Amino acid sequence: MGITNLSFENTEIAFRHCSNADLKRAYWLFRVININFLVKIGPPITNFAVKIGLPINGLIKATIFKHFCGGETIRECESTIRALAKGGVGTILDYSIEGEDDEQVFDNTCEEIIRTIRRAAKDPSIPLTVFKVTGVARFSLLEKLDAGLQLTETEQEEWQKAQGRVLAICEKAHATGIPVMIDAEESWIQKTIDQLALAMMKRFNGDKAIVYNTYQLYRRDKLQSLMHDHQTVFQNGAILGAKLVRGAYMEKERRRAEENGYPSPIQPDKQAADRDYNAALDYCTDHINTIAFVAGTHNEESCRLLAELLDKKHIDHKNPNVFFSQLLGMSDNLSFNLANAQYNVAKYVPYGPIKAVLPYLFRRAQENTAIAGQMSRELGLIVKEVKRRKSPL
Ligand SMILES: Cc1cc2nc3c(=O)[nH]c(=O)nc-3n(C[C@H](O)[C@H](O)[C@H](O)COP(=O)(O)OP(=O)(O)OC[C@H]3O[C@@H](n4cnc5c(N)ncnc54)[C@H](O)[C@@H]3O)c2cc1C
Repeated sequence: MGITNLSFENTEIAFRHCSNADLKRAYWLFRVININFLVKIGPPITNFAVKIGLPINGLIKATIFKHFCGGETIRECESTIRALAKGGVGTILDYSIEGEDDEQVFDNTCEEIIRTIRRAAKDPSIPLTVFKVTGVARFSLLEKLDAGLQLTETEQEEWQKAQGRVLAICEKAHATGIPVMIDAEESWIQKTIDQLALAMMKRFNGDKAIVYNTYQLYRRDKLQSLMHDHQTVFQNGAILGAKLVRGAYMEKERRRAEENGYPSPIQPDKQAADRDYNAALDYCTDHINTIAFVAGTHNEESCRLLAELLDKKHIDHKNPNVFFSQLLGMSDNLSFNLANAQYNVAKYVPYGPIKAVLPYLFRRAQENTAIAGQMSRELGLIVKEVKRRKSPL
């Protein structure tokens, strides 16, 4: 299918995997999420209720969790994996544990990530895997390393263990031939993550990219880093693995920079972030034989641009070095229409214990509040499909 036939408006394709009951649930969920006030007061109330042991897990699991997560375990994600695969969309199992600082939890998370790689190895519908370094290492330890501060002896041991976990994950990915992406996080720990990722790429990437680092193009310096890392890994005789995103921590980044009196690492405006994101797509498609990349975005313009670049540069839609990627429960109009046009697409399917994925769910809710009085894009698409089906709400 040529680019001229690519439409992101087709809600029939976008929601083919949803029953009327699914759509109805999503409609009411997004109606609630659209109310800014509720999304503001929701997180503290929910956190408090969970803390004092109110039985609200069932309610969360049946609503927001069901929409944005695959389940609490890999087994519970199976039906989501199958539903996505039916529409030609792959799954990226994302074990979403955040903000922990316990060595035992880090070991357990490492084992769980290795289980996602094992699960992927058996199944072409799970083409990629992912993890966060803060899932297997203490945030403040990474922060200390990033700042170039001296570690104590105990901290040095802790750091050895953390690196051991990252190595074990990448080794498993290499042994099974399943690529693993390393998520990008806050700038004050990112230098350390970048160094780890680069070391893993040099070690495990060859003709195929096994390890992917993430480049946040909302940062002023990341287009440069992408090009620089490409040259470094290439000189090492290997392919660069790159996930391209705009970045998720803008407000936190700006606030910290202001509070601590250093220049913000974030682009001056959205336009600059968009310009660098799209330039990165251009650069990666120019070097498609030496960069394997994943465009992690819900931005329609960027998805369209990438599809156009592939056609213009005569790159096959199914070239294994290029993937589009979105999050479960968001932008199905992009994911399923791209898959329908035979592009490689995979969605993050977050999973984990409800309490642990709450921060992730709050971020999704915040992203989907109404914008200047208008309903969010997701709600608009659901309403369009409900009308098309003529199914009563
Ligand atoms: C598959 C996938 C994987 C992801 N992995 C990561 C990850 O590892 N690390 C991570 O940080 N994020 C990650 N994200 C989140 C991502 O960074 C974005 O927050 C989110 O996708 C919204 O950006 P967008 O490209 O979809 O498009 P849009 O909605 O067009 O852009 C919104 C984004 O633009 C940027 N932006 C907005 N206003 C401004 C401004 N005034 N100045 C500068 N920049 C601005 C911000 O990054 C904002 O999030 C991932 C997203 C996806 C879909």
